Amino acid sequence: MILTKAARGARTLGKGSRGRAGETKSSGIIYRGPSLIDGAPIVVIATYSDANSKTGTMVQTYILRADMDPRDASKTGADVSICGDCPHRGTPTADPARKQAKGRTCYVTLGHGVLITYRAFLRGVYADAQTRDGRRALGRGRMVRIGTYGDPGAVPGFVWDDLIADAQGWTAYTHRTGWRPELAMQSADTLAQAQAHWQDGRRTFRVVLDLGEIQHAQEVLCPASKEAGRRTTCAACKLCAGTATRSPKSVAIVMH
Ligand code: SF4
Repeated sequence: MILTKAARGARTLGKGSRGRAGETKSSGIIYRGPSLIDGAPIVVIATYSDANSKTGTMVQTYILRADMDPRDASKTGADVSICGDCPHRGTPTADPARKQAKGRTCYVTLGHGVLITYRAFLRGVYADAQTRDGRRALGRGRMVRIGTYGDPGAVPGFVWDDLIADAQGWTAYTHRTGWRPELAMQSADTLAQAQAHWQDGRRTFRVVLDLGEIQHAQEVLCPASKEAGRRTTCAACKLCAGTATRSPKSVAIVMH
């Protein structure tokens, strides 16, 4: 999961998922099956969208429980299937006044792009793209964001390999220690966690409270952040692609 503002809408670009054969698809279901974390039913939906001003135009990927509203998954703790033990999930609660887990600190807002995507999935909006060719076609020539919502480690690796096989590039984030470091930034919540990753040759994406916390020998400030003057987008920057970028630096961003 990336700790940045979530896509606020689910507007997709290009031809719809029901386009004619041979047309470039703008959205589709790229995986439906058991979570690798706990075996519960999950679904991964890819949508090509320009709705997120920080990431720029990218294929966004939503990893969702296939059998429940994402707000209920948060409230009951069933989001463990798609988020693992990420500390930003908060604490399950039965409080009827709450719409999500107590103390949830994840920046991905469930009421926007996530919920819109889940409801569209229930309405049958997304075509099935669960073949190697289907996934390749969705990513072809595009920038892909692996794990717009949810942890990519919940999903079989071949799904992502297919999606980025012909892509222009990708960004990826995981809280699952050691998951595909050549592909994904390791989300770190503390300096100690980040240092442990660095020692093992992994690159991190770390949220800090203050610019002064950034370790300039090992980290750069995300250039799309407010503090960096929003100089670029992820689609142009491409720095968050694990060790595949060959950049020696990890990335830090200031929390808001
Ligand atoms: S460092 Fe680049 S790729 Fe990573 S979050 Fe910032 S803009 Fe996006």
